[in-house]
Amino acid sequence: MIYWRSSNYAKGVELIVLSGPGGVGKSTVSEYLRKNAEGIWVSVSMTTRAPRDGEIDGIDYYFCSESEFKAKIDEGAFLEWAHFAGNYYGTPRSAVAAEISAGRAVLLEIEISGARQVRAAWDSAYLVFLAPPSFSELERRLLGRGTDTPERAAQRLEIAHEEMAQSHWFDEVLINSSVEEVAARLIALASQPRQIG
Ligand code: 5GP
Repeated sequence: MIYWRSSNYAKGVELIVLSGPGGVGKSTVSEYLRKNAEGIWVSVSMTTRAPRDGEIDGIDYYFCSESEFKAKIDEGAFLEWAHFAGNYYGTPRSAVAAEISAGRAVLLEIEISGARQVRAAWDSAYLVFLAPPSFSELERRLLGRGTDTPERAAQRLEIAHEEMAQSHWFDEVLINSSVEEVAARLIALASQPRQIG
């Protein structure tokens, strides 16, 4: 029950962006939120990447062809989009707008160039950078599968270094020490009062 709310305050942060380097565990957090946080709607992106084992169209991603994706870019259907590791990824604008106007907080789990586009286009968005407990931990997670060639492994680490250097323009940096703690902070953000203007 709301006892009192100043007209200067909106209900909470309407758009939260969760970003950070590859391998840090963003998708584990967003999966956890999908199952456990009714007040937050986790956006479903469109991608040209092939589905991985167990991924479901419409739940994990909307999987599409490159020509379908490019047509959506031309229509202005994306809030942001990026070409990342050989594939296209984008956030459908209309679903995000519909959820926000229905009063739900929306979370985008996206890579860093997408976060930068949201920063430029959406003033009130709150940007969270998810960081690993240490770089050696990220290295362990990135290289853990051991399936990369030495060149590819070196490239992944270099990209991760560049991504880690971007945290300073985010609103908040969260250390991913536990999925539950990160999720609790995001849930708190989505429900905290926020001053308008
Ligand atoms: P993956 O292929 O491992 O599912 O995702 C690769 C990267 O793309 C991850 O860093 C993920 O956060 C990011 N990503 C997923 N959806 C989007 C999106 O709609 N826009 C952007 N910019 N990045 C996305």
